Formats: sequence, structure tokens, C-alpha cells
Amino acid sequence: MRKEEFPLPVGERVRVRGDRLVMKFILTKELGRLARWLRILGYDAIYYDKDDRSRLVMTALRDKRVILTRSSRMSKFTGIRMLCITEDDVEKQLAQVVKELDLNIEEDKTFLRCVDCNESLAVIKKNEVKDKVPPYVFETQKEFKTCPVCNKIFWKGTHWQLVKEFLKCL
Ligand SMILES: [Zn+2]
Repeated sequence: MRKEEFPLPVGERVRVRGDRLVMKFILTKELGRLARWLRILGYDAIYYDKDDRSRLVMTALRDKRVILTRSSRMSKFTGIRMLCITEDDVEKQLAQVVKELDLNIEEDKTFLRCVDCNESLAVIKKNEVKDKVPPYVFETQKEFKTCPVCNKIFWKGTHWQLVKEFLKCL
């Protein structure tokens, strides 16, 4: 990424809940797998799978989201922050984003967001998940969370194991 592709300061962060400073994203339709990875890392990542570019730009501006896209044509829009993804492989794409936007990867941030819906996860009591997760998971995990949209159950191992695999590739 060349600096001039970012009309606004790259380092500008959006303050959400408490003191956590995070960057938010909107990804174009070629980047669905990358969106899931960013959610695993705890980032708010909207997957925009339509072709309406002006709507995409409006959403990005309204929510202060960085646009991640494979299309360099997007850079004709002014006032947006975007990163053109040059890699084909999803692990390399994620490595590009982490490096060029200087993202932090922390274990306690990797258990915040539904990988499918981008929704913030809510804590669920252990005794409420007994019949919904594999017995081994129930025995070995202390903390469970659920997605208020799709109702899937998550536990720390699901996310952090994937992140550790990814970190090895960096
Ligand atoms: Zn969900």
C-alpha cells in the first residue's frame, strides 16, 4: 500500500466500548473469507457482497470503516480509507492487513465476535450449553459465549487455536 491511497490518517482509530481502540472494516465481495478471519481476531468486519459501490462508500464513511477490496478502481473515491488487497491466499491477505494497518493480535480480543454474523458475542452460563456442545468441550472449557443472531455457541478454543495456527505463518 502506498501512503497516498489513504486520504485520511491510517492510524485514526474509532473508540468503541470502554477503552478499546479498534479499526472497523467493510470488505467487498471477493473477500468473504478474510472478513471471517478479521472477526476471529475480534474486529468489526462487515462483508458487503453487493455491487453498489456508492452504498459501500456511504456505509464506510458513516461508520468510519476502512474499505478492504481487491479492486484498485475504488481508489477514485475521495475521503475514504481503503486498502487494496493484493494477495490471493487468505492467510497472506490477513498478513497484509495486519502488517499494513498495524493491527494488534491479542488472545483476549479473539473471543468477541460471531464469525458468521459479525455480531458481538454474549456470555452464556456453562449449564445452559451442556446439550449443545460436544461432551469433551463441555468438560474442558470454562467459558462459553453465544451469538444473539444465529445462536451458535463459541468457546475460546474455537477461535484462539485458529489464530495460533495463523501466527505461525506470519
Ligand atoms: Zn452469529
